Amino acid sequence: MSFPVIKNIQEIIPLTIQGEGYHVGRSCSFIRLFGCPVGCWFCDTGYSPSDRKHLSDLPRYSLPYNTLRDQLKSKFVVISGGEPVYHPDLDLLLTTLIKDDFEVAIETSGAKKFKFEKFPRVWVTLSPKSHISQSLNQDVEESYWVRSNEIKLVISEASDFEYYEELLDQAFQLGTPIYLQPEWSKKEESTQIILKILERKPGWKISFQLHKDLDLP
Ligand code: SF4
Repeated sequence: MSFPVIKNIQEIIPLTIQGEGYHVGRSCSFIRLFGCPVGCWFCDTGYSPSDRKHLSDLPRYSLPYNTLRDQLKSKFVVISGGEPVYHPDLDLLLTTLIKDDFEVAIETSGAKKFKFEKFPRVWVTLSPKSHISQSLNQDVEESYWVRSNEIKLVISEASDFEYYEELLDQAFQLGTPIYLQPEWSKKEESTQIILKILERKPGWKISFQLHKDLDLP
């Protein structure tokens, strides 16, 4: 039997924990796909504007699907990036994982449409970045605000929250959990900003990066 080849994989983490958001603390496998055009200054996976000159140093390889699948030690698989929705093999990867009974989640900035209708079982985490993107001039695709399973906003200054407040309020009223995550390099300062916001938004939550505190990949 031949299996399709999944291209542009950056990294596979066979077993770790989901350190952020709704599924925090769950064991999972991570697949990082290569490439992201968004250009956030705080990107920790190699796609910030200052890191872009080193793109060719990032790992990037192809694997037959069965070889990739056999590395996954958890039935809960989180696909991130980079930016998965720009990846040409995302459909193929989702289809094959779902067929093999994996529970799949993707993390995206929402810069490009996701096929919610085709993949209703995929957990979608929206982490909007259009306010800080240094290379894409486009808003989050509208469908994410009503169809994402959770929204996680990285906060480094109060203006990050102010930019999205109305949309986050609307999503929360629809029942979407909202997480505010301190930007790692300004963690103490950002946490204080978030605590102030939470005084006004009692149903929202703060989300720390537990995997980083535990020194997990
Ligand atoms: Fe990095 Fe994510 Fe921003 Fe892309 S969207 S530059 S992967 S933080």
